[in-house]
Amino acid sequence: MTTPDFCEMNSFDSAAPSVNTAEEAIKQARKGLEPYLPHLVPLAEKFHEHGHRLYLVGGSVRDALLGVLGNDLDFTTSARPELVVEILNEYAEAVWDTGIAFGTVSAEKAGQQIEITTFRSDTYDGCSRNPDVQFGDSLEGDLIRRDFRCNAMAMEITPAGELEFCDPLSGMEDLLAHRLDTPDKPSISFHDDPLRMLRAARFASQLGFDIAPRVHEAMREMSHELQRITPERIQVELDKLMLGARPWVGIDIMTETGLAKIVYPELDALKMTQDEHQQHKDVYAHSLQVLRQAMDREDGEPDLVLRWAALVHDIGKPDTRAFDENGKVSFHQHEVVGAKIVRRRMRALKYSKAMVNDVSQLVFLHMRFHGFSEGKWTDSAVRRYVTDAGALLDRLHTLVRADCTTRNQRKAARLQRTYDHLLERIDAIAAKEDLARVRPDLDGNAIMQLLNLKPGPEVGKAWSYLKELRLELGPLDPELAEKYLLEWWNDYKDNPSG
Ligand code: ATP
Ligand code: MG
Repeated sequence: MTTPDFCEMNSFDSAAPSVNTAEEAIKQARKGLEPYLPHLVPLAEKFHEHGHRLYLVGGSVRDALLGVLGNDLDFTTSARPELVVEILNEYAEAVWDTGIAFGTVSAEKAGQQIEITTFRSDTYDGCSRNPDVQFGDSLEGDLIRRDFRCNAMAMEITPAGELEFCDPLSGMEDLLAHRLDTPDKPSISFHDDPLRMLRAARFASQLGFDIAPRVHEAMREMSHELQRITPERIQVELDKLMLGARPWVGIDIMTETGLAKIVYPELDALKMTQDEHQQHKDVYAHSLQVLRQAMDREDGEPDLVLRWAALVHDIGKPDTRAFDENGKVSFHQHEVVGAKIVRRRMRALKYSKAMVNDVSQLVFLHMRFHGFSEGKWTDSAVRRYVTDAGALLDRLHTLVRADCTTRNQRKAARLQRTYDHLLERIDAIAAKEDLARVRPDLDGNAIMQLLNLKPGPEVGKAWSYLKELRLELGPLDPELAEKYLLEWWNDYKDNPSG
């Protein structure tokens, strides 16, 4: 990344979780886990009674050491899955064994979710998408097959109530250095499971860790292997990346290494395109900055829909780029083309219908406001803006405000003022009518009665006509709405296809 303002954006600040020494980290983890011990020690005792051990492992240990322990507690054990089910049945309120083929049994105890996976020592044939699941007998054997060393530490829960830190692969060194490195050679690890490459980008976003040079190199060489992975698994990691503290860093890693070409090729293509203001090196850098600015405007929880929309709002630009005779670049209707691209790509990645609709609709609407910049929108245009955005209106406000990366402060201030003005117009109209529920002034029954129709497509047409009228003119008296509808119906009957 060479754009100067972008280098600043890439630097990690104090917001990334961090500890200075191993002692401090372990102390922090013990303190964070203490509240759970009254429940966990009896569970560990049960494993011991059967001659087995119980370890907290993976992301839970990493996060506890960093002082950011979340809600999930993941465990590993020497006990085989059938025995784990038996023990959990005695201990927990609910037990799920849907993951038992992979050695995982889940349970809930006192409102806490736990997952226990038997030591694994899988083998991979390098072709199929899933490993050949095999159970192992040693903790170290389990840890070495994990993705990154910082994710390959464990803490044994002892029956005496102690938390024993186990780190045979020196994961702590990586944790303190903020480094993502693989236990084994990266090329072997990524060949075994190419999803790990995307996970590296995801952890860079979530944790602010740097990818070790040898890992980065392997990712550049092997990114194409991600093709073997199902869209469902990819989607999970992508969303975690997008919900992380610095998704723009994760996305940048994806484009640098070639992962983006596999997962979201249109994102990669943004690098080619000069934006119309020629202020940025390319639309790509602009998109990452808009993502960041949209996040700055989030209130509270990370907003996946908003973040995706911000990242891909200009995704239609490469396909619509044109130059006039003076060499000036334009991207006519890029929002329409972009919305279609987003739809296609998100469907391929198996996103839910709602996600696909929301993100693509925001992309579709992100330019609409620019027609307002003269401040000359009619009430009808304001109504349509609100109605077309529907439940996405607040996000649309955020996206449009964030979509301003000019260095010209006067220009930026003007844009924000114009948007303030649009909000005032929305408020003024909302004070007079219910903008959130713009509906025709007559309902289906009234339409059928007035026009003497049975249910059918003509009622739908009449309804649409009234909805247009409602958007155009605002709320109407029923008599006036009836008058307009009858006029429309007389014309329609004469020429139904027109
Ligand atoms: P989070 O729960 O915040 O998403 P996590 O590190 O717990 O982060 P999970 O996907 O829940 O990530 O995985 C739990 C642990 O399982 C990881 O910490 C890692 O040790 C191991 N793991 C998960 N996926 C893989 C993989 N593809 N290859 C190797 N090890 C993995
Ligand atoms: Mg986890």
